[in-house]
Amino acid sequence: MRIFDPHIHMTSRTTDDYERMAAAGVQAVVEPAFWVGQPRTNAGSFADYFDSLVGWEPFRAAQFGIRHHATIALNPKEANDPHCREALSLVPRYLDKDSVVAVGEIGYDAMTPEEDEVFAVQLRLAVEYALPALVHTPHRDKARGVSRTLDVVRESGIEPGLVVVDHLNEVTVGAVHDSGCWMGFSIYPDTKMSPSRMVEILRGHGLHRMLVNSAADWGRSDPLLTRRTGEAMLAAGFTDDDVDQVLWRNPVEFYGQSGRPHLTATAPGPASFQGSSILRGGS
Ligand SMILES: [Zn+2]
Repeated sequence: MRIFDPHIHMTSRTTDDYERMAAAGVQAVVEPAFWVGQPRTNAGSFADYFDSLVGWEPFRAAQFGIRHHATIALNPKEANDPHCREALSLVPRYLDKDSVVAVGEIGYDAMTPEEDEVFAVQLRLAVEYALPALVHTPHRDKARGVSRTLDVVRESGIEPGLVVVDHLNEVTVGAVHDSGCWMGFSIYPDTKMSPSRMVEILRGHGLHRMLVNSAADWGRSDPLLTRRTGEAMLAAGFTDDDVDQVLWRNPVEFYGQSGRPHLTATAPGPASFQGSSILRGGS
């Protein structure tokens, strides 16, 4: 089983995690910029953080044969902190980096006017830089958060196929499916979404435009839950090819729209993954 985890915060994980992930089949990851816990004292600290996402963390991942990519943005939670707003002006210089495959995480946390503004500005950046966008949805009042998110995405004029709306569940998946955006799911040990619930969602909504991630971060989480979801799919009667579509080909296709992931280096599998045409291929 080859796995591309499309949303995982490796900064908060250990080398033991990298080792276990590699052994479980994880060959590529995308690490979105997010809130790192401790409130920041100044916007300059984002430069160090973004540098580590395009420098140090890919180096760490490469030691385990894992290809590391990043998404860069001012995240919604810190969009509310006046100390952090200046970081918006740092974002564009990172969007030119080769390992940056999307603008993200953007979207809503508490749905404040500040978040509205920062979300819209960064969707414009995605359009300007011709990059996909990774959109976080709030954990509280999720249904309202997702419907407002879809409104903002529509108003921005970004192509829906370039947007993944993440952290979905049974209640919110339908609206995102109908919008033409990609659907992201974060599988956690005891909250949000489990492998067995994920299998039911795949049964109900199909495999197309589906992205499954472990999101593993500072909280209780598990970087192997992508693998566990693949195993749950097989146990439920999905084929190896179905699992490969969800856990590998879908994230390759979505982030491939940036034109940047050099996945041939991490894809020893089918020859069809050689060359860039497949990265931009149809759906
Ligand atoms: Zn995240």
